[in-house]
Amino acid sequence: GLTARDIHLSFGRTKVLRGVDLDVPPGGTACLIGPSGSGKSTFLRTINRLLEPDRGDILLDGVSVLDGDPDALRRQIGMVFQQFNLFPHMSVLRNLTLPLRRIRRLSADEAEETARRQLELVGLADKAGARPGSLSGGQQQRVAIARALAMRPRVMLFDEATSALDPELVKGVLGIMSDLSRQGMTMVVVTHEMGFAREVADTVAFLDRGVAVESGPPEQIFDAPRSPRLRRFLADVL
Ligand code: ATP
Ligand code: MG
Repeated sequence: GLTARDIHLSFGRTKVLRGVDLDVPPGGTACLIGPSGSGKSTFLRTINRLLEPDRGDILLDGVSVLDGDPDALRRQIGMVFQQFNLFPHMSVLRNLTLPLRRIRRLSADEAEETARRQLELVGLADKAGARPGSLSGGQQQRVAIARALAMRPRVMLFDEATSALDPELVKGVLGIMSDLSRQGMTMVVVTHEMGFAREVADTVAFLDRGVAVESGPPEQIFDAPRSPRLRRFLADVL
């Protein structure tokens, strides 16, 4: 499981995170919702140490991630971004095999086998030889998810993975994410897709101005919100 305790982070004099707590039990899925600029991406980035918090702690299965080697940590925490961040000049297959060889140190054969199996799982076995640029946005995002999963992470982080996609492509990517959740991956998902949060999340946390103002099971957050700020946010987005 993943636990964040009292995370504070400032950029210069701007306090962006002001004591964020989050608890995701092993195999659980937490969705982060909240207005633009509330600190969702910043918080996600502190989890895999793309950013270092000023204060607070992050525990992965009870062990602080803030000691130790950030690269070792990133091997265990997969991240998927709004922009897919694929290598455009390499085939889909090579996008997957490169990190498998360089980071997981698999042999060429093992890497290829692992990559092909993972592509199959996201329905893209037939695209192994294609360049990312020749795929739809939804297919590119599925490649990015496959690349992260091929590393066998203990936790997956998603930062608005479907926000850059055409509406008709969103469903396929959300489907893969909910399958992953159902299969027991521990996940933290920043999303504007309230339907997804309601159906898939075990916990929904509402972030506003750097604070997790309210968190709880989806029924509580969506059907019985307590804080006026959350009520206002939901009225705007639903
Ligand atoms: P959105 O829904 O628009 O993606 P968000 O909740 O993900 O918003 P963040 O990207 O975490 O918000 O940004 C939170 C605040 O921190 C914003 O006010 C933003 O301008 C500021 N911020 C983010 N990154 C930096 C940075 N590298 N330097 C300075 N300020 C930053
Ligand atoms: Mg963001």
